[in-house]
Amino acid sequence: MVKESLERVRERIAAAARAAGRDPSEIRLIAVTKGVPVERIREAIDAGVAEIGENRVQEAVQKQAGLDAPVFWHLIGHLQRNKAGTAVERFDWIQSVDSLDLVEELDRRCGQRGRTEPLKVLLQVNVSGEVTKYGCRPEAAEKLAAALLACRNLRWMGLMTIAPYGENPEAARSSFRGLRELGDRLKKRLGWERMELSMGMSHDFETAVQEGATMLRIGTAIFGERDV
Ligand SMILES: *Cc1c(COP(=O)(O)O)cnc(C)c1O
Repeated sequence: MVKESLERVRERIAAAARAAGRDPSEIRLIAVTKGVPVERIREAIDAGVAEIGENRVQEAVQKQAGLDAPVFWHLIGHLQRNKAGTAVERFDWIQSVDSLDLVEELDRRCGQRGRTEPLKVLLQVNVSGEVTKYGCRPEAAEKLAAALLACRNLRWMGLMTIAPYGENPEAARSSFRGLRELGDRLKKRLGWERMELSMGMSHDFETAVQEGATMLRIGTAIFGERDV
């Protein structure tokens, strides 16, 4: 089941990439496993999933105990400062960095815990401006990016956003485009060739591919509807 859904998702990603004139290999799939039991995550890994996204630190810690697999773990949910120490030990990527406080705390914690490699982080931007969403304001991104670049223990890789939820995936397009344009401005200023753009979920990932996503965070389309 997981294997078949995963295959369909991969085909859709590849088709959307080709239709947009993009190379499918430059788009990474992060399988989002919140609320998914370990056995089904294992099925996904057996079917080739190499990157896992979890929303909560504690849930990831529990699953890692039952999964001895060489996968990369991405924290995609809001991170509270008091969980930063555990998060830097348990995740390879933190996609939800959105405040100066958190930048400083993560850098400090990485230093203390003696990670051998810098922690990769994305800046989460609230492009749509919905009050219910985490993420920094687009106007604050440049300053936070500068702070991230000054951290010895963090490696800033790009931007992440969550689009407003709508039945029509087109509703998400302006958020995706806004994130890409912000990324383009930052790249130009920094002289970077490329920057990660983590955007697009089960119901809108094709739109995200059209707008330049380099990472898709997909749960439901792989594992089915969940209770949480
Ligand atoms: C749950 C979640 C996803 C995946 O959502 P699906 O609709 O199940 O694909 C992606 N990103 C974030 C931040 C999430 O919380």
